[in-house]
Amino acid sequence: MWGKIRSCILKDVRNENEIKMYAVILRVDLLIMVLYYTGAGCVLFLTGKAVAGIGCIVGLAVCTLLFRETYRDRTRIVSTLFNLSFLVLMAACAVLFGNDVIMYNFFYVQILLLYALDYMSFRRKAVCACVLLLLRLVINEYTNIYAPYYTLTANEFVFWRMMHILVFCAILIATVSISTQDFREMQSKLVSYNKKLLNIADLDPLTGLRNRRGAMEYIREHVEKYRAGEYHGLSIAIGDIDFFKKVNDTYGHNSGDVALKTLANLFDNFMSDKGLVSRWGGEEFLFIFCSANGDEAAVMLSELRGQIHKIQFRFEGECVRLTMTFGLAEYDLRRDVEATIGEADEKLYIGKGKGRDIVIY
Ligand code: GH3
Ligand code: MG
Ligand code: MG
Repeated sequence: MWGKIRSCILKDVRNENEIKMYAVILRVDLLIMVLYYTGAGCVLFLTGKAVAGIGCIVGLAVCTLLFRETYRDRTRIVSTLFNLSFLVLMAACAVLFGNDVIMYNFFYVQILLLYALDYMSFRRKAVCACVLLLLRLVINEYTNIYAPYYTLTANEFVFWRMMHILVFCAILIATVSISTQDFREMQSKLVSYNKKLLNIADLDPLTGLRNRRGAMEYIREHVEKYRAGEYHGLSIAIGDIDFFKKVNDTYGHNSGDVALKTLANLFDNFMSDKGLVSRWGGEEFLFIFCSANGDEAAVMLSELRGQIHKIQFRFEGECVRLTMTFGLAEYDLRRDVEATIGEADEKLYIGKGKGRDIVIY
């Protein structure tokens, strides 16, 4: 039952030029008014106030009709008529019951609807608000001059005041919470998009590893931990695939990509409990060993070199094996990170000169 009412209220507008949120606000507010007119009508007929009771039936019919019209992409006209219906309600209350049933609260509902449903320019809204204020003063003046049609008992005054305060609060809360809901959703969407964007900016699309930017961020974070004494050493290595150009030239760029992805996957698993591997660029990978001095990192890289040897790539029916050369440097707190990376790069170059497939520390 509740689910049905919910989907009925939240049903989207068909016209692209209509705003769903406005239709939802109108539907909820109209529903509150339908309940109000039904309850008020029953009480009025039961207490022998038939004229006012008939007024409630008219109000009920108008609100029901307007509710239906929100599904016909006419929220603009519905909002105007709904707003005017409060004017009629206030006038009717003034004529029938006088000034003391706090029906003036509906003036604030009118202003709220005027500004929550953004159909008009600011200037027009200001003019409409002034006209509504003027009419409210006219109604007020009327009650000062003419006596009400019904004379209410003290209990009846209390009842109608309570009723009007309740309806006013319900419309206020519903309108404000629906119109700010979209804003909140938009904000949380923006936050999650920002997080996604930051993630994308740090990742290499081919291998899914962190890129240079992401790696530098990681290094900076862990250098701080090293500085704080959390690690006994921190080492950085650059690994470069040997004769990778030949893979591309012989088996095509796609085969080269497959090799890069396969190796990246191996490195990622290997480094999962040791630190981080990132794609430094092209066929070069940067390895960051947290809590490992140079000697320890050299042992780990030799083990990784052995694992690379074991991989059999199948390109065009041929079994291909790849090797990698590594340059390794231990980070020293007295130097900056760039100098350590530079040292690793130089050692990589030395390794290439020494015939490749080697770890130089
Ligand atoms: P060396 O042992 O001296 O490192 O030789 P190499 O052939 O690996 O080095 P070189 O710098 O001559 O070639 C690197 C190649 O890596 C050239 C480039 O086409 C290839 N490469 C770089 N990025 C990608 C990529 O994203 N996909 C593929 N398939 N190839 C890439
Ligand atoms: Mg290279
Ligand atoms: Mg290479």
